[in-house]
Amino acid sequence: MEKVYGVIGNPISHSMSPAMLNDMFETYHIEARYHAFHVQTGQVKAAIEGIRGLGVYGINVTIPHKVEVIDYLDEVEEVAANIGAVNTIVNENGKLIGYNTDGNGFIRSLNRVISNEELRSANVLIVGAGGAARGIFISLAAMGVSKIDIVNRTIERAKGIIDDCRFEVESHPLSFKEAEASLSKYQVVVNTTSVGMHPNVDDTPLSVENLAPKTIVSDIIYNPFETKFLRDAAKYGAITQNGIGMFVYQGALAFEKWTGIFPDTDRMERLVTKLLGGRTC
Ligand code: NAP
Repeated sequence: MEKVYGVIGNPISHSMSPAMLNDMFETYHIEARYHAFHVQTGQVKAAIEGIRGLGVYGINVTIPHKVEVIDYLDEVEEVAANIGAVNTIVNENGKLIGYNTDGNGFIRSLNRVISNEELRSANVLIVGAGGAARGIFISLAAMGVSKIDIVNRTIERAKGIIDDCRFEVESHPLSFKEAEASLSKYQVVVNTTSVGMHPNVDDTPLSVENLAPKTIVSDIIYNPFETKFLRDAAKYGAITQNGIGMFVYQGALAFEKWTGIFPDTDRMERLVTKLLGGRTC
């Protein structure tokens, strides 16, 4: 019988996950179908009970339900519990286990330009302190990255992430002025704010004049493909990457948790790039 997988969120119709993951189920000849489920606020508990009741094999969770679902799961993996958000649920014979593959998805995409060993000894700067920043900060700390600073407009949110982290890490919350002045000391800089996202494509979160050449600069935004932040950083000799990789790898890691197969991420990336290419927003 065809296995059922899917993603819950609100809104959800724009999600690229069904196209990306159905293509992977077909590629690996797995009899399964991945659907998008529009779950309204107030219906999350019922939706999770539905996973159990209907025998759905696995679910991705997206905005705004990533935090609330935790209350209805049987178990939450350590890093996801520390992040306080779940984006992947595995149904193991009726036992629902929550994971967060967003942060590790980011790390896997970063591994295209830096090894984990180099990353552990790098000085990392995270720009932003929202949900995505939290996942990335805690996943980096969990894998042993020892120095991670956070710069954010609302400094309390940066402090909150640092205080909540249960993994050993040296970290300072910074103002934009402080971060811009000390930019040359970082080997990896990642923008996790929504500044520069379509339609505000002329905005940038941070001036990059003080970047050291060959700094790895990542922006988790993928619409547009190249933000002003990445364009500016490239002018100063940075190695840049956009957010498509993070999106692809978070999906690939979820697929692996469900099937045991780590899928063809190059094929996934080609598909997502094609889907985004046809979009205006
Ligand atoms: P979020 O929780 O709402 O956080 C937004 C962040 O952006 C906060 O740090 C916020 O600062 C900052 N910000 C927003 N407007 C700003 C402005 N005008 N000036 C300065 N800072 C501003 O959002 P999120 O879920 O973390 O998502 C953030 C971005 O990551 C979005 O663009 C999203 O599309 C992208 N994303 C990509 C992936 C991927 O797979 N590539 C995954 C998740 C998210 P304050 O705290 O001061 O408000």
